[in-house]
Amino acid sequence: MNFDLTTDQLQLQARVRDFAQAEVAPIAEKLDKDGKFPTELFKKLGELGVMSIPFADKYGGMGLGVFESVLALEEVARADQSLAVSAMVSMATGLTLSRFGSQPLIDKWLPEIVTGQKICAIAGTEPNAGSDTGGFKTRSKMVGNDRWSISGEKAFITNAGTDISLFTLLLTVSSPPEAEKKQFTLFLVPNEAKGYTRGEKYGKLGWKSSDTRPLYFDDCQVDADNVVGGAHKGRWVLHKGYQAARLFLAACSVGLAQASLDHAVNYAKERQAFGGSLGRLQLIQEMIAEIALQVDTARLLTYRAAWNVDQGRDNLKELSMAKYHATEAGTKCADLAIQVHGGWGYMDDCPVSRYYRDNRICTIGDGSSQIQKLLIARECGLDVSFT
Ligand SMILES: Cc1cc2nc3c(=O)[nH]c(=O)nc-3n(C[C@H](O)[C@H](O)[C@H](O)COP(=O)(O)OP(=O)(O)OC[C@H]3O[C@@H](n4cnc5c(N)ncnc54)[C@H](O)[C@@H]3O)c2cc1C
Repeated sequence: MNFDLTTDQLQLQARVRDFAQAEVAPIAEKLDKDGKFPTELFKKLGELGVMSIPFADKYGGMGLGVFESVLALEEVARADQSLAVSAMVSMATGLTLSRFGSQPLIDKWLPEIVTGQKICAIAGTEPNAGSDTGGFKTRSKMVGNDRWSISGEKAFITNAGTDISLFTLLLTVSSPPEAEKKQFTLFLVPNEAKGYTRGEKYGKLGWKSSDTRPLYFDDCQVDADNVVGGAHKGRWVLHKGYQAARLFLAACSVGLAQASLDHAVNYAKERQAFGGSLGRLQLIQEMIAEIALQVDTARLLTYRAAWNVDQGRDNLKELSMAKYHATEAGTKCADLAIQVHGGWGYMDDCPVSRYYRDNRICTIGDGSSQIQKLLIARECGLDVSFT
């Protein structure tokens, strides 16, 4: 077993880290306050090649793996998790398209996602159902021989309403209402499709510069060619295709946890209390040690799961463990970093307060902590019921 990164991986990691620390970290607080999607910064991330990492050469990608994508996203999130999340949603959506889309769909829609000059979204969640995907109601039905009509509503969707948003992969119920068992179909819906509108963006606790909106579909008609992964196979396609997103979100939490550690250690060294540095006090040392432990365990689980994905192994248990532990660790590390900073840690201008707000969604989105624990228990052989 070898825990060392290769020279190429170290170079990639250093390149993204240098960019993120020089160009993203210094403005992360402003991005948070402005609450607008940073189009130009996102495009720069694309120019650096971040968005192209896991895609094949023939689409303009670097032809690397989920593992290298995790390394890069971690570095972006260490500077600004909100930007990293916009990137990871587009990357995971692009990967789903590249794995399950037809060749013409891939050729038409993927290249601009790979260059990072455009961004894309994936929409599952609805106002009345998130974890319970069986409760989705957005419906698709065939009209004529080669068109589908889609009607319904999606909630809390990332990346659909920016000025560079290109398309949304949309999960719909495609079986008739009277069918005993629900079937689902995934569509690529271009942003300009008639009958597709995006609502006002939500006000939210964190991820302020990432775009989150409700989406509405009113007899939105798309070609049958826009089906991704085959009619009535959408739930399986989304499940398989979107597993990388769970790891990418784990990577975003690892980056934020590392940034919490960086800030906590620096502050503990600089801050003077009771005649010396905070960092010489054993209870402060205990908090720093706990943050460091959380960072490393989160990183190890995330790297192992990413490596396994690249070996083509179906590793749902390891994947769920990584998603669960890394996202919980992110919140714990940000929380402890606030404690180390005392009152200053609670202020808007102190980065660790932003980390705490940003990471809070990570234990909810892309399969909540509760869902991950149920999946782990099921993989351990228990008879798990979600109802
Ligand atoms: C900022 C943001 C961005 C998002 N981006 C996207 C996006 O791009 N695309 C998208 O499709 N969705 C997106 N989401 C939605 C997100 O994935 C859902 O919020 C998440 O899946 C949880 O669904 P829910 O909100 O309906 O909560 P619910 O499913 O109603 O869950 C509520 C609570 O019940 C728990 N729970 C649910 N079922 C069980 C069970 N069987 N056993 C025990 N506990 C359970 C959950 O863990 C949670 O604590 C986003 C959400 C936010 C806030």
